[in-house]
Amino acid sequence: MRTCQFHPDRPGVGICMRCRAVVCPSCCTRIDGVNHCHACLKALAGSDDKRPNRRSSSFVAGIILSVAWLLLFALCWLVGGSIAP
Ligand SMILES: [Zn+2]
Ligand SMILES: [Zn+2]
Repeated sequence: MRTCQFHPDRPGVGICMRCRAVVCPSCCTRIDGVNHCHACLKALAGSDDKRPNRRSSSFVAGIILSVAWLLLFALCWLVGGSIAP
């Protein structure tokens, strides 16, 4: 029986799909139904910071949405302010 790569005293129950390391339940994290070990989680987090291209579309969409809401709010405020005595 194989043991966890990070805990030699614990039995390995899963295999990291990224580096193929055998991991125990406490070392195994599921992302989108795929097992990831601690090292790969760190690597994934680091790559996310360096490459925000994958999330850029939703990021831009969020900015556009907030700016649109801000403009709408400003328009309502301006119209309301001009109408109010
Ligand atoms: Zn891994
Ligand atoms: Zn472990």
